[in-house]
Amino acid sequence: MLLYAATTNPGKLRDFARAAASAPSIRIEPLSGLAAIPAPPEDEPTFEANARFKAIYYSLRAPNLLVLADDSGLEVVALDGAPGVRSARFATDLAHPAPAEPDTPDNRNNAALLAALADVPEARRQARYRCSLALARDGQVLFTADGTVEGLILTAPRGTGGFGYDPLFFLPHLGRTMSELPPADRLALNHRGRAIEALLCRLAS
Ligand code: IMP
Repeated sequence: MLLYAATTNPGKLRDFARAAASAPSIRIEPLSGLAAIPAPPEDEPTFEANARFKAIYYSLRAPNLLVLADDSGLEVVALDGAPGVRSARFATDLAHPAPAEPDTPDNRNNAALLAALADVPEARRQARYRCSLALARDGQVLFTADGTVEGLILTAPRGTGGFGYDPLFFLPHLGRTMSELPPADRLALNHRGRAIEALLCRLAS
């Protein structure tokens, strides 16, 4: 069975391909021609609703194909679940000034997160990553699946692997941030890996 992932994010494509490698009858490849399709809005209130919307949107433009779409992000308990579905746009939403380090969207978002949590003590810095997946064909959603992973937000970044909020996302039971884990461990533990595993299980049954 061949699934086509509706994303150009290399980190996500790597995660999808690695996860599919553990299911011999399933392959996940990038949906070709994605760059030529205008990106849909991601304005729904939940990760699942965004993933469903994207899966329907792209599957209508790729007839007969099984199209896999995702939405993911970070929920911080002390911020009432923010940045949530606004994770990619957190610094922009807050008009957070450019950080001193290289001015990339990830660095901006991390700086905005640290500023938002400046007065929050370590004991109240719980957070979770959440990923929702939706699989659709010809505009019909066939399956959805979710994955989460719990952690703490540090007061300074650690590590160089991964992307997004990974340098601040600390896994207490491992004593490391997501950025400090080898890629295979990161996928085995993270929200995307868990969501893909749940989806592949449902497909297999
Ligand atoms: P989206 O799923 O592309 O909309 O991702 C939203 C944002 O959530 C990303 O830009 C990152 O900031 C954050 N995010 C989602 N998944 C991860 C992850 O695995 N590690 C770090 N940040 C993530």
